[in-house]
Amino acid sequence: MGRLKKLSDIRYGPEQYRLTRAKLFSRFWEIGTSTGLQALGSNESGSDAGEQIFSENKFRSNISLFEMPEIQDNGKIMRLKIVQAGEPVLRAQARQLTREEIIADEIQRLIRDMHETMRDAPGVGLAAPQVGMALQLAVIEDREELLSSLPAEELAEKEREPVPFHVIINPEITLLGDDTADFYEGCLSLSGFSAVVPRARRVRVAYLDEQGEPQSVEASGWYARILQHEIDHLRGTLYIDRMESRTFTSLDNWSRFWKGKPVREVVEGLSDPLGPIR
Ligand code: ZN
Repeated sequence: MGRLKKLSDIRYGPEQYRLTRAKLFSRFWEIGTSTGLQALGSNESGSDAGEQIFSENKFRSNISLFEMPEIQDNGKIMRLKIVQAGEPVLRAQARQLTREEIIADEIQRLIRDMHETMRDAPGVGLAAPQVGMALQLAVIEDREELLSSLPAEELAEKEREPVPFHVIINPEITLLGDDTADFYEGCLSLSGFSAVVPRARRVRVAYLDEQGEPQSVEASGWYARILQHEIDHLRGTLYIDRMESRTFTSLDNWSRFWKGKPVREVVEGLSDPLGPIR
């Protein structure tokens, strides 16, 4: 009960899907369970989660659908391969999940694996299409540890504050007000690059949490940016579709030439003398 009845529902093209899943699983590697489990929150922590969530048999039956029966698994949280721009799944419209699917083992497991994958990257958000799954699910977390290494002025300018781990499923986003903010943004699926991306400063998002319960959040600043970025992923949109394209840079060159400069100055300085960038 509650299992994804048809895994074919989540593929975006039979051949591509099979290939991606095969690559995905073949590049899994195992890690310990302790940190990931403890970070998941009260609902799922504790010893009785082990049987329910990390059942070897359930995982095996799942794997057989992917035709990868030889995969070794002993119920540990795994890091997933993050696909890069060009993979068709990043351009697909992801499908919604039912409540039954959300609470089923496969999705609960995916959430755990995505959480660990995001932390390891490290990143502040990760959407299911980035790990090859065209599902409307993303994980978000902006950890105190990541923020503590940044200057206070930068945190203030970006309105960046810690955001506890949470999961957004089937989100609906509303941009609030006309305020926008321009900042350099990156993406784990465009590894090694960055660009200035204008985003709404404030948003409201209605979504289902990892229990399938309806939630709503109003966010501003960097958190609002994260939400917009992740929800874009669920609609096949990447930041390069929204960026100030002339600011696109490798991270190395960003460090060499652009780091620390006021973003507005950068955008205006790079403007085509014949007209605005956009
Ligand atoms: Zn991204």
